[in-house]
Amino acid sequence: MKVLVINCGSSSLKYQVLDMTNEVLLCKGLVERIGMEGSVITHEKIGMDDKFKLITPMEDHKDAISKVLDAIVDDEHGVVKDLKEIGAVGHRVVHAGEKFAQSVLITDAVIKALEECVPLAPLHNPPNLYGIAACQELMPGTPMVAVFDTAFHQTMPPESYIYAIPYEFYEKHGIRRYGFHGTSHKYVAQRASEMLNVNLDDLKLITCHLGNGASVSAIKRGVCIDTSMGFTPLEGLVMGTRSGDIDPAIVTYMREVENLDQGVANEILNKKSGVLGISGVSSDFRDLERAVEEGNERALLALKVFAHKVRFYIGAYIAEMNGCDAIVFTAGVGENDMGMRDIICNDLGNLGIKLDVVKNRVRGKESIISREDSKVKILLIPTNEELMIARDTYNIVTGKMK
Ligand code: AMP
Repeated sequence: MKVLVINCGSSSLKYQVLDMTNEVLLCKGLVERIGMEGSVITHEKIGMDDKFKLITPMEDHKDAISKVLDAIVDDEHGVVKDLKEIGAVGHRVVHAGEKFAQSVLITDAVIKALEECVPLAPLHNPPNLYGIAACQELMPGTPMVAVFDTAFHQTMPPESYIYAIPYEFYEKHGIRRYGFHGTSHKYVAQRASEMLNVNLDDLKLITCHLGNGASVSAIKRGVCIDTSMGFTPLEGLVMGTRSGDIDPAIVTYMREVENLDQGVANEILNKKSGVLGISGVSSDFRDLERAVEEGNERALLALKVFAHKVRFYIGAYIAEMNGCDAIVFTAGVGENDMGMRDIICNDLGNLGIKLDVVKNRVRGKESIISREDSKVKILLIPTNEELMIARDTYNIVTGKMK
């Protein structure tokens, strides 16, 4: 069966078609500037050295998905002759609140439940829902599955997810920690178990998804027991442009002293903070490392603060799980930035964590990068959220997963 995976953002959309008989990627693409001037689709047929870019007006998500479907069935660049060959569509959906703890076949009732989650993710869930509606209209009769960023973290115990604010805010408004990047944490945890040849049930893992957005999870016996993102993806680690954990009183104080309205304060914490905010240089670690080479002290400080926070969570999760068998690095920074992995793992020998500096000289390739005598294995695993979405979609529509 061929599965189409759709990841709809507010003005962009990523897609892939996978053949699930052998889990092979057939094509992938990106639509940018939906609803804006200069909207463009970039489509790539895998293994054919075939990539094309088409600048064409796309007014909304339905328009965008219609162009995606055209590309998929295109005589020259397509991967199917007829859309009927697409057996199912898997949609990434950011927030399922407490409603879904795993992926689900999309029905009217599911859509209603997801609409109820919109207040929890006002920027992310609406475009996800537009994508679902557009696909339902353009591919009637094709089963669709929703795969949630929050679902994997629903196993967290209350002591991990309850904030110490009056309990009625949780009861009335669902204010609690949810966690995100769940599909990625789940994927790398499964791969870690395969790479180490140890059953997930026998492993205590710390998975570090370090990309532009970043989060760490504590996974005990295959079950997430804690994660660093919270009610929103703003909590936790320092990120490219997000502050991560700060004293909540700062928000009120900052608004007062700078006379900021709520929207501006939100924008500062989400878009102008993180390593960008500290360095004043960039949110991209490659730019920061170049700046450090040129002697930029604040870029160095930003990298140090980032690493400090990752180490802080690793320590916390070792305490929570009473130990750890493996630490996994994934996503843009985790997969590619050997210098950052080096700083994070530096001087943790007493915790049994010893990075092999030679094995660490690797980028974007599954590898074990700890020393032979390291009690805790250190793994580099490129994430693959799309494959995970396609797997859940395939398993649900074929009845292998209920
Ligand atoms: P992601 O959100 O997972 O796509 O990660 C994107 C981020 O990964 C970029 O903003 C960079 O900071 C980082 N990144 C990508 N490639 C490299 C690299 N070769 N070295 C250091 N950082 C990288």
